[in-house]
Amino acid sequence: MKERRTLESLFRERGFRDFRWIDPKAIVVAHWVRMKCRFGCGEYGRSAACPPEVPSVEDCERFFRDYETAVVFHFEKAVARPEDRHAWTRTIDGRLIDLEREVFLSGRRKAFLLPMDSCLLCDPCTGRRATCKEPRRARPTPEALAVDVFATVRSIGYPIEVLSDFAQTMNRYAILLID
Ligand code: SF4
Repeated sequence: MKERRTLESLFRERGFRDFRWIDPKAIVVAHWVRMKCRFGCGEYGRSAACPPEVPSVEDCERFFRDYETAVVFHFEKAVARPEDRHAWTRTIDGRLIDLEREVFLSGRRKAFLLPMDSCLLCDPCTGRRATCKEPRRARPTPEALAVDVFATVRSIGYPIEVLSDFAQTMNRYAILLID
């Protein structure tokens, strides 16, 4: 419990105030998420941190079972123009990657971040892990690892809905695995 309080202080100091703890075994992994990546997402095959450059759904599920502690970060935002979304997520995800590093250096050797948006560290993305320009910082999103974000965050009381218009308020989520 004391360790959690220490981490919570760190999160708040870094400006992340809206978060909830989750048992990683409660993170829902589903094949339909991967299917949605393969058919229907414009990032498929274009990002070096997205499918198909990620482990199988079965391996993703096993990966989460390796952890005992995780935290979900919630971010809420409405933007004036669709193109403003990536500027917002890029900034926050960069800060979250820095936070993962801090948590790791504090002794949590398995710290691993799943950012709220596809990797946007460079433009254009090389699309291949082997040629990724920032391999030490690039991370897959929860969706890239077949996480059903809707089911997962609802299980801890967070809001999320399918949006029909870009001007609606987004509820976005990142997950930091910690052990
Ligand atoms: S760091 Fe650059 S090349 Fe690597 S996944 Fe991210 S955007 Fe693509």
